[in-house]
Amino acid sequence: MAAIHVPQTGIVDYKVVAEKYAEKFQQLGGEIFLGHTVKGIKNINGISTIETSRGDFQTKLTINCAGLYSDKVAQMNQKESLDVKIIPFRGEYYKIKKEREYLVKNLIYPVPDPNFPFLGVHFTRMMKGGVEAGPNAVLAFQREGYKRSQVNFGELSETLAWPGFQKVAAKYWKTGFGELYRSFSKTAFTHALKELIPDIQESDLVDGGAGVRAQACDKTGGLLDDFSIKENEFSINVLNAPSPAATSSLSIGDTVSELALKRF
Ligand SMILES: Cc1cc2nc3c(=O)[nH]c(=O)nc-3n(C[C@H](O)[C@H](O)[C@H](O)COP(=O)(O)OP(=O)(O)OC[C@H]3O[C@@H](n4cnc5c(N)ncnc54)[C@H](O)[C@@H]3O)c2cc1C
Repeated sequence: MAAIHVPQTGIVDYKVVAEKYAEKFQQLGGEIFLGHTVKGIKNINGISTIETSRGDFQTKLTINCAGLYSDKVAQMNQKESLDVKIIPFRGEYYKIKKEREYLVKNLIYPVPDPNFPFLGVHFTRMMKGGVEAGPNAVLAFQREGYKRSQVNFGELSETLAWPGFQKVAAKYWKTGFGELYRSFSKTAFTHALKELIPDIQESDLVDGGAGVRAQACDKTGGLLDDFSIKENEFSINVLNAPSPAATSSLSIGDTVSELALKRF
């Protein structure tokens, strides 16, 4: 019925941004070890030994930004059990057919519902061309469950057993089923998109990719919608960094580095 035009709104190729961060970090003497999965952390006499799939590292302070596994890594660093759990929510996208891309001349986003941490479906013109439409928000059956068929029974049962998740499911089951329905029904997905572009047709959509959001959920069923950074004796843990944490990454980095510098 009405919209706000924000001419300054834009998009970046985030892979390039991340590569630039890495380059700057290395120029300052930092080292990056890819493919080193953190398996455990032992804290002895003020020194943490981080055990990874490719060897151990020792440090006085761990800064944990492990996204979908940030709660697991945080737990490795403390005895008392953590009061939040990461719940993985998959977001599935369609792409708009080339010949209908003209319908989307800007980024078209809905007004968010403050009851939910997710924005709802929107249209995004991509940096390398093309337009994405989505995402929905469905419970992923494993933390890195980018496809519907991926199930990790251990991780799924952990999610289902979490008291906070049970409360969310009881409160928002209707919304949850709606999202699940949209995951299987292209017609329902198109219907949601039509709220933003009434001219969009089911035949305009082709399959796109998916992403998984790392959503922190506390024991009482609260879906945290702000960035959550928790400290303990040995570590600083970024425990909830949902969208727009990529946009805000420099600012979050400032906050984390200030916390770290206070310790030395
Ligand atoms: C579909 C979708 C759309 C989004 N759109 C936007 C947007 O438009 N704007 C925006 O600002 N944000 C957006 N986001 C959110 C953004 O992607 C996240 O906020 C951001 O990636 C969080 O950064 P992070 O560093 O905390 O975690 P991540 O980017 O998830 O990085 C965590 C890293 O830790 C690694 N890791 C995990 N476990 C271990 C372990 N045990 N050992 C070693 N490494 C480990 C992972 O492999 C990963 O590389 C979107 C997210 C999704 C899913």
